[in-house]
Amino acid sequence: MSADALLDALDPEQRAVATALTGPVCVLAGAGTGKTRAITHRIAYGVRTGVYAPGSVLAVTFTARAAGEMRTRLRDLGAAGVQARTFHAAALRQLGFFWPKVVGGAPPRLLEHKATAVADAARRLGVEVDRVGVRDLAAEIEWAKVSLVAAEDYEKAVAAAGRPLPEAYDARTVARLLTAYEDVKGERHVMDFEDVLLLLSAMLAERGDVADQVRSQYRHFVVDEYQDVSPLQQHLLDQWLGGRRELCVVGDPSQTIYSFAGASPYHLLAFRRTYADAEVVRLVRDYRSTPQVVALANRVLTVGRRPGDVPPLELVAQRPDGPPVRYSVHDDDEAEARGVAARIARLVAAGTRPSEIAVLYRTNGQSEVLEQALATAGIGYQVRGGDRFFARREVRDAIVLLRGGARSADPDVPMPETVRSLLLPVGWAPQPPAARGAARERWDLVQALVALADELAAKATAGGTVATVQDLVAELDERAAAQHAPTVEGVTLASLHAAKGLEWDVVFLVGLSDGLLPISLADTDAAVAEERRLLYVGVTRAREHLELSWARSRTPGGRANRSRTPFLAGIWPDDEARRSRALPGGDRRRTGPAAVGPVDEALLARLRTWRDGVARETSKPAFTVLTDAALEAVARARPTTDRELALVDGVGAVKLRRWGSAVLAVVRDGPGRTDPDRPGREIRLGTFST
Ligand code: ATP
Ligand code: MG
Repeated sequence: MSADALLDALDPEQRAVATALTGPVCVLAGAGTGKTRAITHRIAYGVRTGVYAPGSVLAVTFTARAAGEMRTRLRDLGAAGVQARTFHAAALRQLGFFWPKVVGGAPPRLLEHKATAVADAARRLGVEVDRVGVRDLAAEIEWAKVSLVAAEDYEKAVAAAGRPLPEAYDARTVARLLTAYEDVKGERHVMDFEDVLLLLSAMLAERGDVADQVRSQYRHFVVDEYQDVSPLQQHLLDQWLGGRRELCVVGDPSQTIYSFAGASPYHLLAFRRTYADAEVVRLVRDYRSTPQVVALANRVLTVGRRPGDVPPLELVAQRPDGPPVRYSVHDDDEAEARGVAARIARLVAAGTRPSEIAVLYRTNGQSEVLEQALATAGIGYQVRGGDRFFARREVRDAIVLLRGGARSADPDVPMPETVRSLLLPVGWAPQPPAARGAARERWDLVQALVALADELAAKATAGGTVATVQDLVAELDERAAAQHAPTVEGVTLASLHAAKGLEWDVVFLVGLSDGLLPISLADTDAAVAEERRLLYVGVTRAREHLELSWARSRTPGGRANRSRTPFLAGIWPDDEARRSRALPGGDRRRTGPAAVGPVDEALLARLRTWRDGVARETSKPAFTVLTDAALEAVARARPTTDRELALVDGVGAVKLRRWGSAVLAVVRDGPGRTDPDRPGREIRLGTFST
């Protein structure tokens, strides 16, 4: 691609990014504005114009899948040979290269999970732990390490960060555990994910010869999703730079979703302070999503804005109109999953490719019921973008066959044809097995390799060359090293965290109920704000078609004790009216107070005073006590008994138990009789902890 053609694909601001090839550059912009596109074009432009040697550029991004996509985009733009990796993958590679020379022998084995080492360390200290305890402590260890907090500073650091401690442990215990955990690892000659970055940073800091070698190799650095850089990653980046200024960062403060794990948008926002002469570019045109999706994204951020917050960058939609965003509520999680599967089946029948559809959720535990529903509906899927693709036995076997076949391949037979016959023994067939299940899953995996073969062959033909089986094997080796799975034709199931930076034509956001999003663990304003940003990330993954849903109860027949996420209060289209219409009218009216009526404004004001008082007293965000919508519903219904209160929207069983008598007292008391200085006096304090 010519240099001019590269620039033609960009708007003027993006072009400013692409042509600022040297010196510090910072792009601050919202979702879908082309940040990733701008930096890939910048790299390609730098390579094309000879300013960068391809091997001298290191582009780092957040997930393996995002890194993989960046590599593909770079190659398509004619910048093959540029390294695009996650911090972790880049560091692991360098550590693996230098360890034998500097330390001798092989580097410590990489621990996939901290759990065993944490449990052993706890046992050593005589600290009791269960599964949840291990998970919480592992999270603390990770936080301390990515925040560069040493064991002896831990107590002070958590306090300074205002970080809530895991329930069952005090800071002293966690600090002791940090040390014991490091001991356990050392004895076993293993390292965790953070160690990879720590060890490499230390090596670069201590060994001038190693630092020189790395720095003479990599001269230009690009960081995507910089709002989520951790102090540890920044530290490594500083080591790589070694005081040089060839750094381009892009990010969106409104998409900071890893601060619970120690990441911070500080470095992005303070970039100008670090580099006074940095070129700072802002982008506002949203090229990804329809105006319908963009409008919702903007509202999610502005509705949640608190006084004093930095105003979010407002996105301006560029695409033509699309379908309206759809909203639905279901009786339980299974019904919700079935509903999603049914919608997907219709979209696929109408011609949407399953790989262009994603279902996103807050916690990984939510995927199971979705997997079940999709399998029942006969829809193929992959969980989490297929990070583990190369670990699958079927894939490994297939690659062995391809490697073997590469040598003896008949040069007169087109490569994709050879690949198909080579893969027959591992389950490939021209048609997929009719039923879902293990055989179909295997076929999907092998078919992904076949599709990649087709893609390579087509690209080669377009470039006037011929692709061989050898090329395919080389491509697979490269992808395996970067954990870049080829697209498996199936719906993507992913957590909101794993979805960042990615996009699909169709996105379903499920489980949008209070307690799932925001997750019930989010009990500080900062944590809740991060949950809201997660919703923003989810919404902005959709190109065209976006559907939001939640379920009133977890299990079929269970109590409908959930309420809709407060983040969509005032946004969710008049569901209250629709739901009361959908309910058998007589029934609803007989229960009286839940029927739709005018809001008692005086009561609403009293309820607010009471609620805000409780919030202050318990240092919780007000809406986690009761949302505005719930207060309004109470002020409409004026319930006098627990049962009547239970029928009010947004007051589920949990809240009823916790606040029921207090709310009824506020309703009963009438004006002037609630003492605003002693809010929530009717509440039994013992019920606060959950
Ligand atoms: P995120 O914040 O979600 O990571 P982003 O800012 O990195 O988003 P990109 O992924 O680079 O955005 O771009 C979003 C979509 O818009 C992509 O499909 C991209 O190809 C397209 N796009 C971006 N800029 C342009 C442009 N100037 N012309 C046409 N399409 C564009
Ligand atoms: Mg991006």
